[in-house]
Order: sequence, then structure tokens, then C-alpha cells
Amino acid sequence: MKIDIDDFCAEPGRKIRLKRWATGIKPLYKSEEHYRELLVKDVQELSGLQRLLYASNTYAVLLIFQAMDAAGKDGAIAHVLSGVNPQGCEVYSFKQPSAEESEHDFLWRTTCRLPARGRIGVFNRSYYEEVLVVRVHPEILRAQGLPAELVDERAIWKGRYRSIAEFEKHLHRNGTRIIKFFLHLSKGEQRRRFLERIDEPEKNWKFSLADMKERGRWNDYVEAYEDCLAATGLKSSPWHIVPADDKLNARLIVSRVVIEALKGLRLSYPSVTRARRRELKMIRRQLARKG
Ligand code: ATP
Ligand code: MG
Repeated sequence: MKIDIDDFCAEPGRKIRLKRWATGIKPLYKSEEHYRELLVKDVQELSGLQRLLYASNTYAVLLIFQAMDAAGKDGAIAHVLSGVNPQGCEVYSFKQPSAEESEHDFLWRTTCRLPARGRIGVFNRSYYEEVLVVRVHPEILRAQGLPAELVDERAIWKGRYRSIAEFEKHLHRNGTRIIKFFLHLSKGEQRRRFLERIDEPEKNWKFSLADMKERGRWNDYVEAYEDCLAATGLKSSPWHIVPADDKLNARLIVSRVVIEALKGLRLSYPSVTRARRRELKMIRRQLARKG
């Protein structure tokens, strides 16, 4: 089945009601074997595009993954990027900030981890947590030590959306292409995955009581996500809302979006000047002579 990746792209400036976005769709694959075939093809294509990105050394690419717990961020990152040369790719998982990170403005810790030109950077969670988990838990905001007059609980989120949008526009103007994914999971499927994490000993480590507590705040997260996705969807870096109840399908969608974005950069290997070609020929002759 051919997919139109635009179907998963939220139009910038539009209000977002997550209920209207599917968490499950007709799969793009016919069987698990077919899924593997499709993924391998994508992984190979992505690998070629990444080599080109690295060689041309002009653009940087940043993939941002946000989602509720157990939506499959880790698996999507692992599978989609499985063919990419590790030298050209860096993945960061952002957890609760350290004491040092909390001493800085909320964009500081992620800024230090931005990809350099020619690289793919992956943020598994990101500065977006600062308008999601921090909004759902105002006690985290209160502990951040901001000047009291700046912690107006109504104004602060708008201010942060604006900071994020301006920051992303700045990155775009400077050659970083940002591709944002919200893996959209249903509450029922999260329950199923949590049960699996409890029932399967090898998955026990993935489950914590904290996950259960956050699940209890599901509706607050939905509201925070809806506001955030609407306020920070930009023409230059829109949000992709990926149906995530089927992990395999979600991975195929993510890989197509990344591939199309990289192709859109119309990258090419650095061209060789006549002088350089002459130089290479000369070196070649020398090497050949020495056997
Ligand atoms: P999984 O989906 O497998 O559970 P995860 O990304 O939730 O993976 P965890 O180690 O379970 O990884 O959780 C990381 C936690 O760190 C999340 O609950 C997230 O909300 C929290 N976190 C990330 N950034 C911040 C932040 N800036 N402030 C407060 N909490 C944060
Ligand atoms: Mg978690």
C-alpha cells in the first residue's frame, strides 16, 4: 500500500484535537515478513541518504520524538536508524534534568546536544517536556528556581511555545532541518503494553510505578499535547502525528517521513574541480608506480 505521508502531518496554525487523529490505521504491510522487507528497503535507502548528508556536510538533521509512555519511541529509533553509520548519528534520551541542567534556561541542555552539520541527531524526548510533563506537574516548574514574577502559570506556557518556535526557526535558518514526531497511542493500547511489561520478566525493567501515576493524568497530558502541537507546528518544522497502536506500522511511517525529508534536501556529493581531478590522477600515478 502506498502511503501519503502528508496525511500524518498536522497543518501548522490549526487547532488540534487528538481524538480526531487515528491511533490505528490499516497497516501498510500485509504480513510480518512483508513488514521486514519494507523496513529493510527503507533502512538501506536511509543509509545511502545519510552517507550523502555526511559527505555534503551542509545540513544537519534533528529528529524529535515525543509520546506518552510505552508508545514505542525506543523501538522506532532503533529500527528506523538501524542501518545508519553510528559515526554520523547521535541519539540522546532526555530524562529528568540533572541539578546542573536545572540551573540553566530550559533550552540549554538540548542545545548542547544539537547535531553538527552532516549529522543526524535524535532527541528521544526533548525540550518539549518543558511544556508537557512540567505543565502537568506545576511542582516541577516551581522547583526550577525561576524568578517568582516569571512563573505566571498562565503566561509561562505561551512564552515557552514562543521560545521553542523562535529557536526552531533560528535552527532552520542555519541549516538544521527538524523533523518532529508525536507517536499517538491509545489509552487501551498503553494498558496492554504495561501489562506486557509486568507479565514478561524480560520487560519488567521497563515498567515503573511512576508510569502508572502518569497514566492517571492521561487527560491532562492530552490537553498539554494538543496545545503544544498546535502552538509549535511550523511550516519549517511541522508535527507528524503517527498512529502508534501498531508499532510496526508506526516505524514504517517514521522511516518514510525521514526519507522524504532527506530526499527533499536534494543533496549531492561534493563536486570535484578540474584541478582536484588532476591532483587525484597524479597521486594515482604515484601510487601505481610504487606498486
Ligand atoms: P518509555 O516510553 O520506555 O517509558 P521514557 O522516555 O518514558 O521511556 P523513562 O526513563 O521512563 O523514559 O522516563 C523519563 C522521564 O523523564 C519521563 O517521565 C519524562 O517525562 C521525564 N522528563 C524528561 N524531560 C524532563 C524535564 N525537562 N523535566 C521533567 N521531567 C522530564
Ligand atoms: Mg517512561
